[in-house]
Amino acid sequence: MKTVFLNAAKLDFDNKLDFSLLTKLTELTNYDESTNDEILDRVQDQDIIITKEMPVGRDIISQFPPSVKLICEAGTGYNNIDIVAAREKNIVVCNIPSYSTEAVAQLAITFILNLSASLPQQQHMLEQKNFNNFTKYLQVPHFEVQGKNLGVIGAGAIGRHTIKLALALGMNVLVYDPFPRNWEEPNVKNTSLEELLQQSDFITLHCPLTANTKHIINKDSLSLMKPTSYIVNTSRGPLINETDLINALNNQQIAGAALDVQETEPPEIDNPLFTMENVIMTPHIGWRRYESRQRLVNLMADNIKSFIAGKPVNVVNGNL
Ligand code: NAD
Repeated sequence: MKTVFLNAAKLDFDNKLDFSLLTKLTELTNYDESTNDEILDRVQDQDIIITKEMPVGRDIISQFPPSVKLICEAGTGYNNIDIVAAREKNIVVCNIPSYSTEAVAQLAITFILNLSASLPQQQHMLEQKNFNNFTKYLQVPHFEVQGKNLGVIGAGAIGRHTIKLALALGMNVLVYDPFPRNWEEPNVKNTSLEELLQQSDFITLHCPLTANTKHIINKDSLSLMKPTSYIVNTSRGPLINETDLINALNNQQIAGAALDVQETEPPEIDNPLFTMENVIMTPHIGWRRYESRQRLVNLMADNIKSFIAGKPVNVVNGNL
């Protein structure tokens, strides 16, 4: 079996990862990155293609040679791949469902703790040599999180781990998920999306990006939120209509936001979110800790091993 990783530098940007579990299974060629023109050359005679969040649309898939049998997305979200077009060519698409669950949940909680302690505002004031927080008590919101309501939109692997950490901090949790579970914990309950928006002090997004969830946070949903509430997005940027979010922040309709993902990555240089004091932005780092990336490589080897054995796992285009 021959495997090509078309943009390996996106995963192994520090050359620290060990690919030996993969190379024991398959003849692996890693390219740092590939342009659209290079892709078709590089997939010739290959059985398996690995991509990391690289757009792989119908146009490209339709030109893949018959040797290609599997596309392995080196991540959880697979909205970059046209899975229907792959299915039409009998190409299996698989993903890695939970390599960075702990890391992303920890980031969501880090954001919540940072926002509750008004760290971005305080840091900004100090950078401006504004010492009012020393001399005039505290000029920014600053509160404890226990007893506050955390709204979790999407209670899959990351959502559930975030809930576990939030419960340890004494938060109450409201969950909206179209496939609700039964919660044994007394401080977790399922709600409608409207109730969650109205009652939460923090809202954290952990649903996938689909046609149904695009802009799930928009001017209507933002108008239901409390003026003291915060929104946290570590899932996918287009879950939030960014223009509506900017308006809601400018109009003090909500208190702040923390965004690991944005509608366009990187955002335009003049995006107002960069300069808002009550906004934390990070460059899509949820999955990038070393431990998560090595786990991802090892889980990719498991996916490929199962595929070679004729029992593919983590297939995302099986029942279209
Ligand atoms: P998961 O599949 O385990 O969970 C997704 C949950 O969302 C499921 O419970 C599902 O029922 C729910 N859901 C589906 N449609 C919904 C809707 N309309 N409203 C509310 N909930 C809905 O996925 P996961 O492992 O928890 O990952 C969640 C997302 O996190 C991924 O799709 C990915 O986009 C994102 N992610 C981001 C990073 C990062 O680096 N920031 C890393 C990994 C994953």
